[in-house]
Amino acid sequence: MRSSTFKIAALAAATTLTLAACGGGGESTDSGSGGEEGGSEPLTIGVKIDQPGLGVQDGDSYSGMDVDVARAVAEQLGVSEDDITFQEAPTPQRENLLTTNQVDMIFATYSITDERKEQVQFAGPYFVAGQDLLVAADSDIAGPEDLDGQILCSVTGSTSATNVQEEVPGVQLQEYGRYSECVEQLANGTIDALTTDDTILAGYAAQDQYAGQLKVVGNTFSEENYGVGLNKDSDRCEEINEILQGLWDDGTMEQIISDNLGAADYTPNADLNPPEIGGHCG
Ligand code: GLU
Repeated sequence: MRSSTFKIAALAAATTLTLAACGGGGESTDSGSGGEEGGSEPLTIGVKIDQPGLGVQDGDSYSGMDVDVARAVAEQLGVSEDDITFQEAPTPQRENLLTTNQVDMIFATYSITDERKEQVQFAGPYFVAGQDLLVAADSDIAGPEDLDGQILCSVTGSTSATNVQEEVPGVQLQEYGRYSECVEQLANGTIDALTTDDTILAGYAAQDQYAGQLKVVGNTFSEENYGVGLNKDSDRCEEINEILQGLWDDGTMEQIISDNLGAADYTPNADLNPPEIGGHCG
């Protein structure tokens, strides 16, 4: 059970003034990373495209908390909006997209883990979520202890799949490539539960097409530290850490959270947010 007092509505009110005071001032810092005078260097950013509130693609437009954090970071790196190309970074492909330089950075509910740090580096964390369960509104499942023998869905290569297999060896885990595929199975009644970060689950539960049908259990059983994934060769990691710290310090992060997760009534864990940024570069 979480005790949390981090209220999004209050935050929204508290941060509006801050943002009004410092937003849109055009005070882009110099890019710092390479002496291209005045020019904005193109940036390809990996995001999720099917996670409401976090990363969503609708035609040419991208939205969500991760997308907004990416835009704010890019702006402070001196990259103009027109020079950002968003690209899908599905969970099982993230390390590969970075190590093969298909993307420059990833903002995609990407948890920092020791295993992933063998291949990539992370700025951040910029947000901490927790693993939870999404079930039918009338389900009796109240936590991982009720999953034995149940059919559970998650995504290949996610911390969610790994954690739950360790926690509940008796679960029947079905792994897909994207969480939105799991939600469809859950709504159809072909699986008993979907497990991943509570942020992602809150977004699905709040979607109009599932109104009243699904519920987030609300009993988190992990800490998911969202980092900015970077190729190990990138020299921007520390600079991004400073930018992320600034986004928390000036209220921008709280505004981004409220703008994107407020609609799903998501309450971040106040014990873990704001996170301690740093320590995962290199
Ligand atoms: N944050 C977890 C992870 O990075 C689950 C969400 C996701 O797959 O993006 O594995």
